Amino acid sequence: MGKYQAPKGVSEYFPPQSGIFESVIRTLVNPALAAGYEPIELPIFEDTELFTRGVGESTDVVSKEMYTFEDRGGRSITLRPEGTAGVMRAVIEHNLDRGQLPVKVFYKGPFFRAERPQAGRYRQFYQFGIEAIGINDPYLDAEVIAVAYNGYKALGLKNFELQITSLGDKESRDNHRKSLIKFIEALNLDEETKARAAKNPLRLFDDKRSEIQKSMASAPLLLDFLNESSMKNFDDVQKALTSVGIPYIVNPRMVRGLDYYTGTTFEFVHRDLGAQSGIGGGGRYDGLMETLGGQNLSGVGFALGIDRILLAMEKENISTQNNSYTDLYVIALGEEASKEAFSIVHTLRLSGFVVEQSFGDRGLKGSMKAADKSGARFSVVIGDAELTSGSVELKNMATGEAISVTLSALATALAENSR
Ligand code: AMP
Repeated sequence: MGKYQAPKGVSEYFPPQSGIFESVIRTLVNPALAAGYEPIELPIFEDTELFTRGVGESTDVVSKEMYTFEDRGGRSITLRPEGTAGVMRAVIEHNLDRGQLPVKVFYKGPFFRAERPQAGRYRQFYQFGIEAIGINDPYLDAEVIAVAYNGYKALGLKNFELQITSLGDKESRDNHRKSLIKFIEALNLDEETKARAAKNPLRLFDDKRSEIQKSMASAPLLLDFLNESSMKNFDDVQKALTSVGIPYIVNPRMVRGLDYYTGTTFEFVHRDLGAQSGIGGGGRYDGLMETLGGQNLSGVGFALGIDRILLAMEKENISTQNNSYTDLYVIALGEEASKEAFSIVHTLRLSGFVVEQSFGDRGLKGSMKAADKSGARFSVVIGDAELTSGSVELKNMATGEAISVTLSALATALAENSR
């Protein structure tokens, strides 16, 4: 049988890079915790209809990219392509919106879209996201943006830009839509594009074909159709961002890939990533909860792409080396010593030290090499002589210096020499 390979286009993380993957997520989660967001763990598959209704049928995500299958009970199931619809489903189902508002949650994990794989675009990828549901307040929009911004900053990223726009309220969107449809009708479009535009005319701003881009260059922009209250709302968001020193540019042509957005929408774009430059994005969604059968409450959130953030960190030469934090590497020589070492290691780990033990019959030389490779700060060798004397040489791996320590005092010695 040939060698097995991972399915096409998935992203995978294994040691040593997997350590960075974990720590990037932890770093992004911290600003969310600091702002009072709580974790939510949801299923990776949901009823297909949740996404067709929630995300919108005009989107690429729903029309071309869903992993949909029939389960053994004949139900149509889809691997989640994004996180917001599932969060909203859970909020409605479990009545979270009947308590204190806004409901503030964060999630992280794998998402699935059957896209054409390329650098930064995968079929299974990872997102970290937050949602604040139930209150419509420009400061909440700004808070959500700030949580993402603080996360990127904490990772050390510099070469990115925040782009924002507003899709306004329903009245503003309806007025713009009328004018945009009139504009589009005058264009000479193929049937498929016309059908797409009929579902959501904004999609044409996002069309990659150059002839369409050229035609759309003079299309009416939603930002010019904002009514007074939508304008004030967008203005307040911008003022809030400025007041805390978060730089942004207004991009009136930005179109998000999902249909549920209203009001403030935003994207973080990294300058070194080429075609797949979006490292995160989000916005407000006014009608989503009602569309999914809940109350008519507004929400705002973002999703950040972990895979692309890792690529961006590499581009900016931010160390993605896994810094080993092993305190002690224990080498046992012989059967008696192995037995003793196993219980010493066990006890040290329970006291909070990171300890590795050499396994197998590698001899002293092979084990010392392994100790070196582990990046441990200290090592000890336990053989028959050490068992008899009850003390070991605690060797500092960086300096080569060694001090004599009794076996029972190992924990104290490690603590005294802690980082
Ligand atoms: P979206 O849910 O489309 O708003 O995407 C939010 C973020 O997830 C994007 O800015 C990307 O960083 C990331 N992302 C979306 N789709 C993919 C994909 N197929 N592969 C890798 N990252 C993705």
